[in-house]
Amino acid sequence: MNIAFFSTRSYEKDTFLALFDTASTKATPPINVSFYEHGLNKHTAHLCKGISVVVVFVNDDVCAATIKILNECGVEHIALRCAGFNNVDIAAATQCGISVSRVPAYSPETVAEHTLALILTLNRKTHKAYNRVREGNFALSGLLGFTLHSKTVGVVGTGKIGKAVIRILRGFGCRVLCYDIYEDEEVINMGGEYVTLTELFKSSIIVTLHCPLNAQSQHMINAQTLSQMPDGVMLINTSRGGLIDSNAMIQGLKSKKIGYLGLDVYERESELFFTDHSNEIIQDDNFQRLTTFPNVLITGHQGFFTQEALSEIAHITVDNIIYRNNIVSL
Ligand code: NAD
Repeated sequence: MNIAFFSTRSYEKDTFLALFDTASTKATPPINVSFYEHGLNKHTAHLCKGISVVVVFVNDDVCAATIKILNECGVEHIALRCAGFNNVDIAAATQCGISVSRVPAYSPETVAEHTLALILTLNRKTHKAYNRVREGNFALSGLLGFTLHSKTVGVVGTGKIGKAVIRILRGFGCRVLCYDIYEDEEVINMGGEYVTLTELFKSSIIVTLHCPLNAQSQHMINAQTLSQMPDGVMLINTSRGGLIDSNAMIQGLKSKKIGYLGLDVYERESELFFTDHSNEIIQDDNFQRLTTFPNVLITGHQGFFTQEALSEIAHITVDNIIYRNNIVSL
């Protein structure tokens, strides 16, 4: 079995190699693995000649054109080493008889804890305090926060990560308003209150997004939905960048409608994230504008990045490749 990894980073290579080594002792035919640092897209798909399984990540562009080339190369399976599958054209893959697997759950607490890190940092400004104190500046002006206890927080999407966020927020003593297309008994038992999306937007001083990106949820946060929220709202997105219209965010920050913005994902992140661009001129004007606001905190899609989650992702992905588990269907 010839396997090609795309968008590979050094921190994941050794874990995967060790797992394939163990799997190889039992596997027939033998397993050969190649790692590419660059992404998979319609320009790089021709590298897959003779490859039976491609392993991709969040920003690989597995559109219909890419899949057509993969099919011509003889690829049988696409294994996503992440949860979201918005970057793969499932219909096109199904049509070609190529199966697609993903890692539906790996330590949802990992992303939930990063969500809280964004909320707490934006609120208590620990990132600014860190620099100030190192420079001998102990003034508190500009560092004023608010007490999270008893505040109302809105959670959009109450799946695995959303539920982990609700559990933590309830521990902080927050009132938690929830919206999902399906209500979940466990959420109600944790003290979450299901309301309409409009009610959630109207009554929450913090709104955090945990639903997948699809045709229905694309730009769910836009100028119109933003106008329903209280002035100075805190918006957090650790889900997928396309849930938020970044033009509307910039206007919302300028008008002070948005008091705090915490992003781990960005709608055009595939051109930026996971790579060092520190010596280049970044061409994305919206991204650059967002980084100029003092009340915006952006991390580069690191919500999943803990030892525990990486290890779980690797184990589940290897099992998916060998046993074809966790197949995504239309
Ligand atoms: P999940 O499938 O367990 O939960 C998603 C929930 O969203 C489900 O309950 C679903 O019913 C709900 N939903 C679907 N469409 C909706 C809509 N239009 N409005 C409201 N709710 C809707 O997924 P999860 O494991 O909790 O992951 C949530 C998202 O987090 C993923 O889609 C992925 O994009 C993102 N994610 C980000 C990172 C990161 O590193 N930042 C890591 C893993 C996952």
